[in-house]
Amino acid sequence: MEILRSVCPRCGKPSAGLCNVCRAAETEWLKCEPRVESIYCPVCDSQKHGKTWTDTTVDHETMIHEIALSALTLHPDLRGAETSLTYRDPNPNRTFVDLTVSGKLYGVEVTGTCEVKIIWRKEQCDRCNRISGGYYEGIIQLRATGRRPSGREMDRAIRIAEEIEDGLQEGGERLSFISSIDEIRDGIDIIVGSQHIGQVISSQFCSALGGKMTTHPKLVGEKDGKRLYRVTYLVRLPRFQTGDVVVVHNHYLEVRGAGHGRIQVYDLREGTSRFVSEDEIDRLVGNVGDAENALVTYHDGDVIGLLDPRTQVPVECRAVPWLEVEDGGTIRVLRDDEAERLVLVG
Ligand SMILES: [Zn+2]
Ligand SMILES: [Zn+2]
Repeated sequence: MEILRSVCPRCGKPSAGLCNVCRAAETEWLKCEPRVESIYCPVCDSQKHGKTWTDTTVDHETMIHEIALSALTLHPDLRGAETSLTYRDPNPNRTFVDLTVSGKLYGVEVTGTCEVKIIWRKEQCDRCNRISGGYYEGIIQLRATGRRPSGREMDRAIRIAEEIEDGLQEGGERLSFISSIDEIRDGIDIIVGSQHIGQVISSQFCSALGGKMTTHPKLVGEKDGKRLYRVTYLVRLPRFQTGDVVVVHNHYLEVRGAGHGRIQVYDLREGTSRFVSEDEIDRLVGNVGDAENALVTYHDGDVIGLLDPRTQVPVECRAVPWLEVEDGGTIRVLRDDEAERLVLVG
């Protein structure tokens, strides 16, 4: 009689060595840390991992999932692991999580559970610490030559600054924040947390609004053996801004490209573009952003009849080749108070 040697030493079923069922049963395939600490900033909800702070981009439940899963160690031979969990928050600084894990180990279906306790610990983050301590690295001063920046320019500047801050924050540059934006008599002052955001915002002011920048670093002290500078970014906008209508040799010109010295203009009578130098400009009429809609009452060759939008009095203007008009339609006009006339701008 031949003895069958290939049996499982645990259960005696036919197998070359330990059978899969017994092997799975003997393997400690699910381990978890019973207690994990999670540090967060009570002001902005940022999370601390090691020494690094990051903004939280997920909701409370997803975060609990992530923390619980990070406490879990699974055997590398486990296949097709699926986890589910339930949790309860008995108080603001404790969350109890019950995890259930299932999968296949050596071809055998396995299920296990474990409990993780999350301890929530509050700590002021690097960014809130700097903001509350009044720390800053730069100040952007938006000014204009011979005038105050217009409401339009300041609105645009604030929008640009906020968009840049959002972009840098989303890119993980936590210390590139804006502490304050103040409208003052001469323009806007923006206090920023890093020199990088100061540089990016002021450069963007220059390209979007036609300004010129000068930077003034000032040594304010030393921190951890490094010299600490505060930089003033002075952005000066040109005397004339895009959309301004100006008079040069009795021509109305619309400023299309603001700049210092030479200005790109559109001749509102001829419908042509050219450059003029700043000192050729006799006076400023207004800005097309403030133009009014005037009703066209008739159009006869060179003459356009309009109703003055303010007084409803009929007025006649000379037609311009670049502007198509329709009887009963409207066109944009800018009031030239000095010459007591309406300028067609579009
Ligand atoms: Zn067995
Ligand atoms: Zn914070």
